[in-house]
Amino acid sequence: MFASALAPPAATAAEPPSIADDPLLQSHLLHRLVERERSPLLVPQSIRHAQVPLLRPPYVAHAVSALDCEHATHDITLDPETGVTKATLQLQVKATHSPLASVSFAFDAGLETEGIWATDRKVIVGQAMLAPMRVVRVDLDPPLAPGASTVITMPYAGTLSCATADGGSITCSKGAEFSYFAHQSIFPYVFDPEAPEDFVLDGLTRDIVLRVPAVHDVVATGQKISETLDGSTKISRWSIDKPLSRVVGLYAFAGKLGLLPVGGRTAPTTFIFPSPEKPIDRDLVSWSTPALEFVERTSGSRLPFDRSLSLVRLPQTFGDPGTATFGMTLLSDSYARMGNILYEETWAHENAHLFWGVVVPETNSNESRLMSEGMATLTEIDYTFARHFPAEDRDLYLARRFLPMGLDLRVSGKDLPPAQLTAGMDLPQDFRTRRYTLWAYYRTAITLDHLRVTLGEDVFSNVLTDYVARCRFVGCRPDVLREIASEKSGKDMQPFFERWVTANERPRVLVGFIPANGGADVELTKGDDRPMTLELWLGLANGARVKRRVDLGPHTTRIRLDAPAPVLTVAASPRHDVLVDVRSLVDGDLDFDGETDGFDVLRCAPLVGRRYDSVGATGLWNVDERFDPRCDANGDLAIDDQDLAAMAAQFGKLRAR
Ligand SMILES: [Zn+2]
Repeated sequence: MFASALAPPAATAAEPPSIADDPLLQSHLLHRLVERERSPLLVPQSIRHAQVPLLRPPYVAHAVSALDCEHATHDITLDPETGVTKATLQLQVKATHSPLASVSFAFDAGLETEGIWATDRKVIVGQAMLAPMRVVRVDLDPPLAPGASTVITMPYAGTLSCATADGGSITCSKGAEFSYFAHQSIFPYVFDPEAPEDFVLDGLTRDIVLRVPAVHDVVATGQKISETLDGSTKISRWSIDKPLSRVVGLYAFAGKLGLLPVGGRTAPTTFIFPSPEKPIDRDLVSWSTPALEFVERTSGSRLPFDRSLSLVRLPQTFGDPGTATFGMTLLSDSYARMGNILYEETWAHENAHLFWGVVVPETNSNESRLMSEGMATLTEIDYTFARHFPAEDRDLYLARRFLPMGLDLRVSGKDLPPAQLTAGMDLPQDFRTRRYTLWAYYRTAITLDHLRVTLGEDVFSNVLTDYVARCRFVGCRPDVLREIASEKSGKDMQPFFERWVTANERPRVLVGFIPANGGADVELTKGDDRPMTLELWLGLANGARVKRRVDLGPHTTRIRLDAPAPVLTVAASPRHDVLVDVRSLVDGDLDFDGETDGFDVLRCAPLVGRRYDSVGATGLWNVDERFDPRCDANGDLAIDDQDLAAMAAQFGKLRAR
């Protein structure tokens, strides 16, 4: 039903449905997904907040972890029906810049360790319960010297409790049909107890061996290496052979799994779902190849999962909204309630993370989500346009999708940190979902689209291709994007990043023009002397639109722009609107024809009575994108008679000649 928010104008005649009518929708539609996608931030926070001295290291702001996880071998014998588990983890760790004193592991409370040792040194083991997890702390004696490595071996066994955590989520679900084992259940979550919130990418590789009764199907995170039978045991081997952050999710599924092949892909690609098959399963399969091809086109390269790719529908009952990890995308069927277009779009978002976050990780996910959530959000919007609205004007479609996000930012994001945190900045500890969404998803995607218009589509596309080549399995920071954008465009992109990536600016630019023979003389004025590039749109008497990218110098820039027909209007691309306050030099001239006249009122009169209501950052989905902020003269987020009267008072104003 929310498809109306995405449909072309003709289909948006109905008012968007009220979110208040549906208890399911009262929280953010993406709420659970956002929660999951920031869960690497939350697990260590819950550990730090726990009232267990062992688990509560003295909090040191900006503590930098010395833990570098190099390689993990997981050998897990599991009965998915009973949860009886016997496993061994071998973890090779290295100390980076300073001595490494401890390593911690969190896993299902029903499992217990059976003696832990490390090569070349003693270990002191402490443990505590943090339901539904058991947390084991291993102190190394002596601590590892900088640059030195050791292998910690931890056998553990017992019966999985698969208990429900505060908030209702589970980390595992036993059963014969579709059993589910996530990170922190059979796979220990590894962290540095001295700096649990530090996420500098450590580039961990893993080998996973799962041994289950032969009757079960089994799928795990990673690329499938082999599946063999040993008597009544099925041995399934999976590999994460490229560096991955230790906090990225691990999963295993076993039982009588629903399995459907996804056609049209070179790599064996399988859709995995809980039986019985639902119509939505065929839909998800049919969306998978287009989504995967789209994210590959965007990134300019093929996904590197040649041996296998697993795409999973999670049942709503697990409370796991989904995520993407190495060779595996997961999404809850609870998103089906949003209607097929948005479900497909969310599927594209998660699959986009196979690149943006997995193959191409950020150096530090606490510093910025520009090239993970930002790229995934930009890709989902681009995907929906390409799949469902290709006949629409693309610029106007994109501007309409970003408009509600921009209004949400204006209303609720005034004191939001910039997209890239600079030295000494932290995300606030109480950063709730709504503000995290504005920061990690909205501002980043808007900034990337603004960058795309600034650079031009082709240059932006080349920048992404280079970024992927350079950052593939290596953590990159937004500075690398800036460097590549500068190289590819031949312009210094530092001013762009200073305005919109490491700060939150919305500079005002005044546009004026005088029609001239063969074009227009255009004047652009802003209040500072830093460079900026805008895509200008010339509206011509023959109905055509001509686009010209113009570099603005200090303060006022004057330029002659050629056009094949008389120029009636000069405006900026509406895709700049969220981040640049572009106005006509003539007050009240909303259509940028250089005059304040009846046409400006005509533009706004049909919108009288509209108001912009943001419901918990759901702006992306449920607001009326036809709200035109330029018609809201007094900026109170309602278009009313006052606004029209203010416009009428400007009547008859003409450009200075
Ligand atoms: Zn995401």
